This record gives sequence, C-alpha cells and structure tokens, in this order.
Amino acid sequence: FRHGESSQVVIPTPNGDVTIGEQFPISIVAGPCSVENEEMIVETARRVGAAGAKFLRGGAYKPRTSPYAFQGHGESALELLAAAREASGLGIITEVMDTADLEKVAEVADVVQIGARNMQNFSLLKKVGAQDKPVLLKRGMSATIDEWLMAAEYILAAGNPNVILCERGVRTFDRSYARNTLDLAVIPVLRTLTHLPIMIDPSHGTGRWEYVPAMAKAAIAAGTDSLMIEVHPNPAKALSDGPQSLTPDRFDALVKELAVIGRAV
Ligand code: PEP
Ligand code: MN
Repeated sequence: FRHGESSQVVIPTPNGDVTIGEQFPISIVAGPCSVENEEMIVETARRVGAAGAKFLRGGAYKPRTSPYAFQGHGESALELLAAAREASGLGIITEVMDTADLEKVAEVADVVQIGARNMQNFSLLKKVGAQDKPVLLKRGMSATIDEWLMAAEYILAAGNPNVILCERGVRTFDRSYARNTLDLAVIPVLRTLTHLPIMIDPSHGTGRWEYVPAMAKAAIAAGTDSLMIEVHPNPAKALSDGPQSLTPDRFDALVKELAVIGRAV
C-alpha cells in the first residue's frame, strides 16, 4: 500500500457487498447500544437502513461497569439480530466478549466487534484472528496507538487480514461534559502507520447525542473511512446508552447533512 492509503475490507451482506476503506461515500453503522426486543431492533434496522446505513449494530453481550446493570439478552438477542438482518438486508455488527461465545456470534454477525474493554484480551484476539469474519477492533479507553496496533497485529498474525480500527474516545482529565475525549487526531496518525481502515464512533466518544453530529462531520473532514452511530427508537427508555443515542429521525437528518459534505468534497 502507498503511504496514506487504506486497504479495503469487503463485507458480504444480504443487500450486497459493502466496502469499508478508501471509498466515498463512507459506510455508516447504526443501531442501538443493546438489542432489547424484536420490535425495537427490527424497526431500528428498517429506519437506519432507509436513512442510508449499511450495517446494523446492537449488543447481545454487553460489557457493563456494574454487574447489576443490564448485561444484554445474550443468545436470544443473536436470534433477534438474525431477524433484523433478514427484514432489513443490513449487515450485522455485534460484540463478542468471551471466546466461548465466538462461534454463535460469528454465525449471525457479518463483522465481529471486540469492545474497548477487551482490546488486550489476547486469547479473544487470537480466536477472532483464527476465524474468517471481519473484525472491528475498538480502541481501549486508555490504550496508546502502539498498543492498539499491536492488538490488531494479534488478529492479523492469527490469519485474519480483515481488521477495522474503531476510535471510540479515550479517558482524559475532564469528564464533566463529555463521557470520553474523541481522539480524531488518530485519523492522520494511523494513515502514516497502517493501511487498516478506520471507523469513528462519536456516540461513545462524547456520550451525548447533542454532540454526535459535529463530531461525525469532523471525522469525515479528517478522513475517516466509516462511522458508528448509536440510534434508539426511544432513547429515554433505552436499557443502555440512551443519553448518547440519536432517534431515527435525528439520524436521518444527520445522514442528509453528511451527504452534503460528501458532495462538496
Ligand atoms: C458499544 O459499542 O456499545 C460498546 C460497549 O463500545 P465500547 O467497547 O467502545 O465501550
Ligand atoms: Mn453503547
């Protein structure tokens, strides 16, 4: 690869192949933090797909700070993701937390997500590297760029070349207004260090839906290959990450604004 060029990860979905990396318009992943029930996941899939998203995201297994918080519906949520995939034609991106669950997650997922908290779970990295679904590797909340790239290297070294790097915000000193600090400088930095495609998650990156549009636009301006955006049909009632979730209407409006940036480029 030439300096500054990214590789492409081509992902087969029911609606056809979707490419992440080195193309415009960029690919958008959208959906709720957690899969809550069939109606909400199917409705969200249809709405985000109609707005222009290529992938539905949604957690079946959720890495929660408190053991008493909603942990995700697990295996039954995987079935609901399969139903949403069927109904919408979108590709599915969902997180695997445990090596024991990988096989059943990979059966439903078109892209397997490794969450920030598991970025250096080396046995999990080796295992997703030894299967053939593409892997979305989120940056650990306190991970350096070198640690993140070495985590990706575990997956590549195990034989899976299809890795996408997702920046989702890091811990800094002030969390009064934003949950994390979205490190958009990684975009130009990564372009000098790796050919792997980049995704930016402004939802976890800010923790507030009000800040998501500005950071999504900034990410495109800085050259991201893709975006991940949390969308919930009723954010006030969400079982996780409601405050950072756009409604389907707000997501639709945002994609229209992003398309304007696209045409201007
Ligand atoms: C998520 O995508 O809902 C999630 C838990 O992300 P992260 O691992 O970046 O916190
Ligand atoms: Mn979330």
